Amino acid sequence: MDSSSPKPHAILVCYPLQGHVIPTIHLAIKLARKGFTITFINTQSTHTQITRKSGDGEEDIFSSVRGQDLDIRYITVSDGLPVNFDRSLNHDQFMACLLHVFSAHVEEALLKIVQSKVDPPVSCLIADSFFVFPGKLAKKYGLRYIAFWTETALVFTLYYHLHLLKLHGHFDCIGMREDPIDYIPGVKSIKPKDLMSYVQETDTTSVCHHIIFSAFQDVRNADFILCNTVQELEPETISALQIEKPFFAIGPIFPPEFATSGVATSMCSEYECTQWLDMQQQANVLYVSFGSYAHITKNDLIEIAYGLALSKVSFVWVLRPDIVSSDDPNPLPEDFKGEISGRGLIVPWCCQKQVLTHSAIGGFLTHCGWNSVLEAIWCGVPLLCFPLLTDQFTNRKLVVDDWKIGLNLCDKNPVSKFEISEKIQHLMFGEASDGYRNEMQKAKETLANASRGEGSSDKNLDSFISSVCK
Ligand code: UDP
Repeated sequence: MDSSSPKPHAILVCYPLQGHVIPTIHLAIKLARKGFTITFINTQSTHTQITRKSGDGEEDIFSSVRGQDLDIRYITVSDGLPVNFDRSLNHDQFMACLLHVFSAHVEEALLKIVQSKVDPPVSCLIADSFFVFPGKLAKKYGLRYIAFWTETALVFTLYYHLHLLKLHGHFDCIGMREDPIDYIPGVKSIKPKDLMSYVQETDTTSVCHHIIFSAFQDVRNADFILCNTVQELEPETISALQIEKPFFAIGPIFPPEFATSGVATSMCSEYECTQWLDMQQQANVLYVSFGSYAHITKNDLIEIAYGLALSKVSFVWVLRPDIVSSDDPNPLPEDFKGEISGRGLIVPWCCQKQVLTHSAIGGFLTHCGWNSVLEAIWCGVPLLCFPLLTDQFTNRKLVVDDWKIGLNLCDKNPVSKFEISEKIQHLMFGEASDGYRNEMQKAKETLANASRGEGSSDKNLDSFISSVCK
């Protein structure tokens, strides 16, 4: 950053879901390291979940890095619901608050900051592209709007061109077409089954649909888009998007130490897995996790449990207490623990990055959340894909069809224990296993190269910063 130009001050609004919280916190630190002043707006609920589990009564999640001369200020606002309200169990109510109520709280906070004549003055608003209000708010207060997209460029462009999907009969119409889509700029071809779940649904009146429609109207007002992807992973899609908007691929947004972040980002207590993993053979353990948000049916959960048992593979399984529903925190079959005697570790939550870096991990049965895919690539761990909702189906297409760094578990629900067992064996020890590992190694190098000084993500971040500072 040019020392003569005024220091940029960004208000950064974090989306209150775990998969967004992690990269947003690391984006804040990354930008602060590059000379930004950041005022980070967290919801009171996310703040409480992060600090409650660390138990140190920390007032501010950034206090540990502030000593490194980073100018990160921190405030919390309500998302419209009581702090301890069960957002997982009442998902639609939570989303309705983000759609209708949250912007009022953000605006109140923003106004207070702007009116208090802070130094340096606020120059931009960085907010998750899934929010429905930042473009309008930025315009009202004369700020630049920088949309932060935590998913792939492919998913961004598909949402951005929903009108084209509708026009061609692939979205929101009676008798939806089933042939591949080949008219989205920068996307050679994609099958309807690989679209995001919300785009595949026939009822488009849900609160999540409202959010998507409003958010992707609002994002058209963005001055810049920052995306947690890598240029070399999605070159055509990114080039096409750059014709529409200044679009910067700056991922993967990880802390420099990768597995130890210095700031708390986890909204649940992390259970220790290293000791158990230390006792396992190299590349012999399957890591199983479906992220922080998706639910599965009890039936699928039982099939997965018996599939793991049948496979005879050692595993670490993150079984969130709300994975089926917060109303059913104990959904495993009674005989399961006996069947896996000693070769499985089941935890409610862990430090996933630490687990993935462990040399005992040889595969990852994943829901294909984008952070999980990026983390697996960073660690060179091949994937067995079991997408459940939202962008996970589209991420599976990239992983399985385009990058060939993993295989698909199944196309049809319900999934069977025999198929699970067979695919696990195939991923970990089958003939094709080396092929996945080789491709994964190449993808790993792509990420590492993009992240190092003078790599594409590093350059893109610098070029974003010089554009903002103009
Ligand atoms: N994660 C974790 N511990 C767990 C499970 C997940 O730290 O036990 C982290 C994981 O490393 C990732 C994030 O939570 O960074 C989940 O994001 P992702 O995009 O993979 O899925 P989502 O939760 O958004 O569906």
